[in-house]
Amino acid sequence: MRKRLCLVLLACLLVCRAAWGALEGANSWQRVDSRYCTMWIDSAIQLKKVNRKISTWRIRPRGEAPQKDDSIESELAAKCDTIFRRAQEVLDMYPAGIHTTIRIAREREDIEGVHATRYGHGTEAVAFYVFEENTIYAAIDDLSESVLVHEMAHCIIDHYFRVRPPRKIEEMLAMHVDAHLRE
Ligand SMILES: [Zn+2]
Repeated sequence: MRKRLCLVLLACLLVCRAAWGALEGANSWQRVDSRYCTMWIDSAIQLKKVNRKISTWRIRPRGEAPQKDDSIESELAAKCDTIFRRAQEVLDMYPAGIHTTIRIAREREDIEGVHATRYGHGTEAVAFYVFEENTIYAAIDDLSESVLVHEMAHCIIDHYFRVRPPRKIEEMLAMHVDAHLRE
């Protein structure tokens, strides 16, 4: 029994390593931390491009707005937290101590590779959330506040319920959050 458990653990470890490997490659990553998120951004992507892709000016409540002279990192962090807080508010779900990882890759194929390694098939999705890794994967060209809030909603829902809801229900809730993002 213990031997079987060890084998299962080993298999899990190998799958995780393969998934990481698919994205890691020779890439290095830039890290941006916020209260709710740790972003890992491919070093080939300019932070100001990421910052441009995510707009929060019509999203309330905004929380602490970054100062004008603040760095791009702190502006990005503030934007992530604004979007995350809004997702919690629309859902009215506030799981304790929640924090997620966001990986922003250069190409769509990079995140497709992660999906294929984990689930055995690729995906048409522009982004996805992996509960087991508590990680949102997105490619830079498809990135937006809508994409982020949708995936953050998946994270919040999955951590709020003791039993994760059926996929279709969860998808409806995540779409609902995106639809009410800017109210
Ligand atoms: Zn979804």
